[in-house]
Amino acid sequence: MSVITLDNFIDQSNVENKRYKKSKSFIFEVPIYYDVWMDNALENFYRVLKKIDNEDFNVALSNDKLIFEFNDFEKFKNALVQQIKHKYRNMIVIGEDKKAKVPKEIKKDFILLQEGKKEYGAVKLKEDVFDWNKLPKILDELKESKKGNKICIMCGGRYKKSYTLKQAIYPFVTKNKSLSGIRTIKSLPEYHKNLCLMCYLLGVLEWTDEGLIYHTSSKENKTFLFLPIFESLTKLNKFKEETLHAGILNISGRYGNLLKKPNSDDFEETFGEYTTLLAFYEKFIFNVKMSEVLCNNWGVLHIPLGKVKNVKFETINVDKGILEVISKLIENGYLIYTNMIKGIYFKKKTNKGFVTDWNITTEIKENLAKSLLIDDFRTFSKQLMPRKGGFVILSSDAYQILDELIYLWRLVNMGIPKEKLDIIKSVGNIIAKISLANSSLLYKLDKVRTIDEFWSVLREISRKMAGMEKEELREIKPTAIDELVVMVKEHEKIWKEIRDLLVIYSSMYLAIKKLKKGGD
Ligand SMILES: [Zn+2]
Repeated sequence: MSVITLDNFIDQSNVENKRYKKSKSFIFEVPIYYDVWMDNALENFYRVLKKIDNEDFNVALSNDKLIFEFNDFEKFKNALVQQIKHKYRNMIVIGEDKKAKVPKEIKKDFILLQEGKKEYGAVKLKEDVFDWNKLPKILDELKESKKGNKICIMCGGRYKKSYTLKQAIYPFVTKNKSLSGIRTIKSLPEYHKNLCLMCYLLGVLEWTDEGLIYHTSSKENKTFLFLPIFESLTKLNKFKEETLHAGILNISGRYGNLLKKPNSDDFEETFGEYTTLLAFYEKFIFNVKMSEVLCNNWGVLHIPLGKVKNVKFETINVDKGILEVISKLIENGYLIYTNMIKGIYFKKKTNKGFVTDWNITTEIKENLAKSLLIDDFRTFSKQLMPRKGGFVILSSDAYQILDELIYLWRLVNMGIPKEKLDIIKSVGNIIAKISLANSSLLYKLDKVRTIDEFWSVLREISRKMAGMEKEELREIKPTAIDELVVMVKEHEKIWKEIRDLLVIYSSMYLAIKKLKKGGD
């Protein structure tokens, strides 16, 4: 859909129908807030209004505002009530009543709207907007709303009747005044009484937005709610529409809404904030392919599941270069989340043999996703190191994708051709062999801070190799260490990157050797 302003829209309509020339009795204009919650709320409201199929009604979104207009107030009101009733379902999931073993309605855990007593098993929210007797009366106030002399703290517009700002409208406010106002782009004063009807309505309705990603982690006891950040409403809308059209989100999920495949019933398993974001990128890029509006700026709400709802807020900025790397991988058939991150396990030896330690595995997956998305290769490489009596094992797919990832993410920038990765792998294999008996060399390598220390570790590897038995030397390429020395000399400025690559491959080969040997 191309985006047009209301004026263009009306001009275009004039061709067919002259009556649009005359302006409507009711015209509403809501400017961009430059606030992550309210702009998503504004965009959500635009999608609600677009569903109103009524000849008298016009709506348009531009980069910096939403405009809608109509003549017949009753007709508009009735249509909007219907749409809000429809959106209400987005906040509810069907679960099972543990006692009666029958399906029952449950409000999604992260929605900060108070719940009243269930009526005939149906979720009843206390907010007036969702009381079907009160909603029409609230909307009636829209007729008069612009006539007041009070100034709204959220939009700066004039209004008549005040609403009180609270978490249900704007999750950044807290009950404790001294804690209130995790300031977003807009700085919010600490009085909470001067809110206009439009901002109230939009803020509350944002909980019904089906275009946001969420993931609830029972381990962390909170939900991550991802809000895309754009400085243009039309771009924000385009991104959310593309996400929705891709069919990769399903609002019926209680603990998450990302699907494995578009329009399926199969929810994707993710582990925390960053695995969720990486998995989302994979699904989006795989299913939408070319997009100029792929979001790389996010506001993430951390909403606790317990009774005390102190919401935390974090912004994540993903470098466009990283998105290009992920896109390239997917184009070449390498699903970085599904086939790499999910194919990585931390194994520990127990008396029952090797078992996966799921706590550490989850932590590693999350750290790998995070360090990739924030472009931190050093932290990424450390994740694969052996620790706590165990080691990290990759599936064969994961291993292959890691090679491709390293090529696109690091080698291309380092100016090192793909074939030269074999040198690093061979030396990694040597280090693994030496480390099998004693892994201190690997830790020493990881800790080197200067190039001199690096040379000293490389010399130590060389010495230890000389002491190896013929049988052991047969499996390795002894010239590799000399070739590596040449490579480091050629690329002295990026010796740290070479160190990190060595850490990765040494750790991987060591893990394979340990698994073969039976581990210790
Ligand atoms: Zn306002």
